[in-house]
Amino acid sequence: MTPAGRFAPSPSGELHVGNLRTAILAWLFARSTGRTFLMRVEDLDRARAGAEAVQLRDLAAIGVTWDGGVVRQTDREHLYAGAIARLTAAGLTYECFCTRREIQEAPSAPHAPQGAYPGTCRNLSEAERELKRAVRPAAIRLRAAVVEGTVQDLLHGSYAGVVDDFVLRRNDGVTAYNLAVVVDDAAQGIDQVVRGDDLLPSTPRQAYLARLLNMPLPEYAHVPLVVNADGVRLAKRDGAVTLADLALAGIGNDDVRDALLASLGLPAGRLENALAHFDPAALPRVPWVWPGGGSRGA
Ligand code: GLU
Repeated sequence: MTPAGRFAPSPSGELHVGNLRTAILAWLFARSTGRTFLMRVEDLDRARAGAEAVQLRDLAAIGVTWDGGVVRQTDREHLYAGAIARLTAAGLTYECFCTRREIQEAPSAPHAPQGAYPGTCRNLSEAERELKRAVRPAAIRLRAAVVEGTVQDLLHGSYAGVVDDFVLRRNDGVTAYNLAVVVDDAAQGIDQVVRGDDLLPSTPRQAYLARLLNMPLPEYAHVPLVVNADGVRLAKRDGAVTLADLALAGIGNDDVRDALLASLGLPAGRLENALAHFDPAALPRVPWVWPGGGSRGA
């Protein structure tokens, strides 16, 4: 398999300029290192009808091109089921019956880091599980042997974060993001993961899972987000932040692309022209403040 990078949008609505900037970065990282670039739609949950087509159109409109067809996670359930079956056969999963509220209210386990699953269902007896199954369906959790893991990131260096008994399959039967992303990246030959740095805290969990599944670790680059004037991660409520909104305001797709390139210190024009200038070491390490917005309510 040719080494590849990727962009993996969740089709929950239109992409905003923050998402588009991350896509441009993922494209630049992949193309500047001779990788192919794959497009994977992460539609296991939060998918909104019609959103995928609009997202793909907008990516193409700013010059983010991809190789081969679009891969959709909803077509790949057999791969996720296979991985969970392997983990289960190795004794590395357990059924969890906790509601979100029960988890919030449970006393945290001794030595467990903040935000970690407290382990309520880790050691249930078969008889206890039997009783709980009658009340609600189980989620499947990983039985992790560690509480922390470290990953190497091209922009953040060594990053340590929580590894807990995270969910692999939700109790509504939907495969969890952390499992799907690991299985897909490995199955697609993706050896470079470039995405928003809001996902950095999930990465030690994913790397731990990849090792358990004997899957190679990709190289990671978690890139700064775009924020509004208040320093908060950009969202649709921040005004004109999608290509469609901006077009209505008279700002064309090429202008948006050029503004995003300028925010990265790169010349205007086709993305291909930026390749020769792209230097990961010179990338801004701080969030970019979207100049279009102004303070909320202003
Ligand atoms: N689907 C995720 C998102 O849109 C990205 C996941 C990833 O790049 O690993 O936030």
